[in-house]
Amino acid sequence: MSTSPLILVVEDESQIAEIIEGYLRQENYRTERAKDGEQALIIFRSVRPDLIILDLMLPKMNGLEVLRNVRQESNTPVICVTAKTEEVDQLIGLELGADDYISKPFRPRELMARVRAVLRRSGMNAQPQHLAEPPVRIGKLEVDPVGVSAKVGNHKLELTPTEFRLLYTLAASSGKAFTRLELIEAAMPESNALERVIDAHLMSLRRKLEGNGVVNLLQTVRGIGYKLEG
Ligand code: CA
Repeated sequence: MSTSPLILVVEDESQIAEIIEGYLRQENYRTERAKDGEQALIIFRSVRPDLIILDLMLPKMNGLEVLRNVRQESNTPVICVTAKTEEVDQLIGLELGADDYISKPFRPRELMARVRAVLRRSGMNAQPQHLAEPPVRIGKLEVDPVGVSAKVGNHKLELTPTEFRLLYTLAASSGKAFTRLELIEAAMPESNALERVIDAHLMSLRRKLEGNGVVNLLQTVRGIGYKLEG
């Protein structure tokens, strides 16, 4: 086994941070803590954690701004901690690529379940069901479930773990229209995601595909959901 995953806890309320870190350590995760947004980015850049638990209401730089910066630099999975429904709406509306979120107040056990699920989805834990799967090719697009990578021609797509899983799910059954609920079950199991979260992830995925010259591949199917049609 490699070393245990390193988790960055970004939380300005020290009591809450201590509880979260305590539970994480009990499950043998390694932890780092940041108490404001600026410190979060500094620690993120120096330790490159496997996962970030990010409170959105933070001093100095708010969590959404931290998330935006993290996303410009990496696809590190992020679980956002929100205090208000409006924050969830913002998260979704801004398409910032959070991998999951949890609302305060939350039960630590529920947070731990999300941590495990997000790490599993991001490939920190082996995914034996994919080990023998060959890459899927649609035109210039190639999606490789073993390497957890996708490319257009020779150009690698920079995708978040959730975007990758959505793309693979759609590509592996191209031509089939998926409902949002089916996509959540396939690509974000055990998450708290609402159906409109899927729209945000897919909008971001579509932008990345189009940025690489793949236009009209990811299609909206009115009244149903989405499909990939090559
Ligand atoms: Ca806070």
